[in-house]
Amino acid sequence: MIPPGEVIGILGGGQLGRMLAMAAQRLGYKVHIYAPENDSVAAEVSQAHTRASWDDASALAAFASACAVVTYEWENVPIAALKGLGETPLFPSVRALEVAQDRLNEKEFVENLGGRTASYMMIDTAEDLDQALIRIGSPGILKTRREGYDGKGQWRIAYDHEAEGISLAGQALIYEGLVRFSSEFSVILARGQDGKCVFWDSAENVHEHGILAKSTVPAGPAVQAQIGDARALAQKVADALGYIGVAAFEFFATDQGAVFNEMAPRVHNSGHWTIEGAATSQFENHIRAICGLPLGETRLAARGVEMRNLIGDDVLDISALAADPANHVHLYGKGVVRPGRKMGHVTRLLA
Ligand code: AMP
Repeated sequence: MIPPGEVIGILGGGQLGRMLAMAAQRLGYKVHIYAPENDSVAAEVSQAHTRASWDDASALAAFASACAVVTYEWENVPIAALKGLGETPLFPSVRALEVAQDRLNEKEFVENLGGRTASYMMIDTAEDLDQALIRIGSPGILKTRREGYDGKGQWRIAYDHEAEGISLAGQALIYEGLVRFSSEFSVILARGQDGKCVFWDSAENVHEHGILAKSTVPAGPAVQAQIGDARALAQKVADALGYIGVAAFEFFATDQGAVFNEMAPRVHNSGHWTIEGAATSQFENHIRAICGLPLGETRLAARGVEMRNLIGDDVLDISALAADPANHVHLYGKGVVRPGRKMGHVTRLLA
């Protein structure tokens, strides 16, 4: 067990790191952020910030030696950087990140454990894409295997001829058939050092332009019927990885049952509602798990919860949002408003 007062290192400096840091501090830990950017919103609320690049071996080693345990809040941290952390414990493991960083690895891993995914094919060349359009057909989505997020690195292909204009530019890609789903939902779990898993209620998620817009708990009946299978799969993946910490699994609810879309080896936007809406938040349980503390209860703290993201200009409505006493307003302290940028979120509890 890592006692309160010790330093937790977090790789990545965004809003997930900020909310993790706040949860860690509530439990008496100190937080050291490693992030290359100058304006890290996580570092703003932490005791220390190493501002260095991901390939700075001496900065990584010095950071690791200043921390009792290290975790990550961003799944694109280069694997080589994790290997530079020496003896300091790292949770979740390097293996979890390796699997989740690449959409192809992730799908193969989950399929091998019996999970259902969209039909997919690996795409390296224009010929591969022609083959995929023959075998899987359109509509579909071409995605970069790595580093896509919030709908970035994705091209929707409604008709086969639409693929002709796309320059593959030597990127490693995956083509997925479009899944006809009735709704989307996520399973978020925390797995402790003793291997025990706890789950939060699954949120039903609505995306707009590939970005999460809204999460609602409890999910509707179509989702409720599929949560059991989805949880069983998520637990299998977590067990197979020897996972420690919080992980999120996104699913499509379909007529054929739950279809796995992707996993995040970290706390997740669709779990932000747990700060006010659950007995213990995803952020606190992640800190508990990596520090070897018992996990907290995950039960719903209200009849229901709704979380909406504040994206881009949405944040300009702050006075109106704050005026409504039912709103719990969270702003991430990002200075520059850009279209599509996650600036904060608002949670409402249903009494
Ligand atoms: P992703 O980055 O893979 O999570 O994709 C972002 C969003 O795009 C998802 O939450 C879905 O709304 C949509 N999407 C992605 N892949 C598919 C698919 N194969 N079929 C249908 N919708 C998809």
